[in-house]
Amino acid sequence: MTATLTTNFVSHLEGAIDGERISPEVIRTLHHERPIWVRYDLETISSILSKEDLLSRPSTIWRYAELLPAYDANKIVSLGEGMTPVLSCPRLAGKMGLSNLFVKDESQLPTGSFKSRGMALAITMANHFGIKSVALPTAGNAGGAAAAYAARAGMQCYVFMPQDTPMINQYEASAAGAHAFLVDGLINDCGRIVSDGKEPMGWFDLSTLKEPYRIEGKKTMGLELAEQFNWKLPDVIFYPTGGGTGLIGMWKAFNELRQMGWLDSATMPRMIAVQSTGCSPIVNAFNNGTKHATPVQNAQTIARGIRVPGAVGDFMILDAIRQSGGTAVAVDEAAITPWMLRATATEGISICPETGACFAAVEQCLADGTISADENIVVFNTGASQKYAEAIACQLPLLDTNQPIDWTAI
Ligand SMILES: *Cc1c(COP(=O)(O)O)cnc(C)c1O
Repeated sequence: MTATLTTNFVSHLEGAIDGERISPEVIRTLHHERPIWVRYDLETISSILSKEDLLSRPSTIWRYAELLPAYDANKIVSLGEGMTPVLSCPRLAGKMGLSNLFVKDESQLPTGSFKSRGMALAITMANHFGIKSVALPTAGNAGGAAAAYAARAGMQCYVFMPQDTPMINQYEASAAGAHAFLVDGLINDCGRIVSDGKEPMGWFDLSTLKEPYRIEGKKTMGLELAEQFNWKLPDVIFYPTGGGTGLIGMWKAFNELRQMGWLDSATMPRMIAVQSTGCSPIVNAFNNGTKHATPVQNAQTIARGIRVPGAVGDFMILDAIRQSGGTAVAVDEAAITPWMLRATATEGISICPETGACFAAVEQCLADGTISADENIVVFNTGASQKYAEAIACQLPLLDTNQPIDWTAI
């Protein structure tokens, strides 16, 4: 834990839709119904912090304290999150015809998904502002992470999830003591319950991109990636995109590092947002060249984390993809589970369905020339496969200890 900072370097908050400056002194959600950026005095940070300073710090997200909004060590709520490994994947690369394929393995984080990065910051800042009760809608992993961090902070947590949310997500929220509920609708319906309940229940709304700080937590994926690649970013990043905090946060990280003069490569990575044909609002908007995405009807995909029919930060996702020279790709829903299993079995990494979609996208992009075989490619594994028992049909043969084992059948 970095306990040395006594000040922070946040200069102001900024409305993402209109650039209006907003005071960072009060906690708030949305500005004109759209997300809020946290802005820093990057010039001062780069004058007092060097890359070498980082080397002696703990391998958690808090090593980047100057680039985060929290500074009072007593308010930091942590489960030791951060510095997930970048794993080289030579077997999978060989099978796919690539030379440099890497997985940044977020499955190893607390609660088994990258949602812990965002929640560490959101709950820390809620704690900083004296909030006692939080609520959120979730497709699964955000609820589990929020419940865990709220428990760690001694806060009340209310979680609303679609009825068909993976069992493990239901379990982890309730096990961490949250008030967890199923809703007979999609995540947007759950979001409406949180909005409606805010006032009567006194909740602070932790919904994706509604409060400003989850992005700052997700940003640490980009900071880590830069440091792990020795400040020379990869050519292409594949990211499963739902609400978009991960992609937006990472792109924000790269831009902040570039402004600080910390990046060695002049070119930035192309950001490739991956969705399923069962729910692809961002892909549709990207292809149509629009600023905002039109919410999709009947969103359906086994990759629950990317089943987000409409995202409040849609324009921020699309801006990041376009600025990076990347693209948005929808993969066949039927390809997701086979790729999840193939990737897990080939490299031993616990690949979630959302990342199964990313591997299908890598294959698709290589075939259509969006990427080339010799590029440095990073795929984000946003969660652990064992959280998705429903996605895996697994029936092992049973051995009878009263019978001699037939070795020819083993
Ligand atoms: C939430 C989630 C996503 C989507 O993340 P966003 O950054 O909100 O787009 C992808 N994968 C998993 C496993 C998730 O839990």
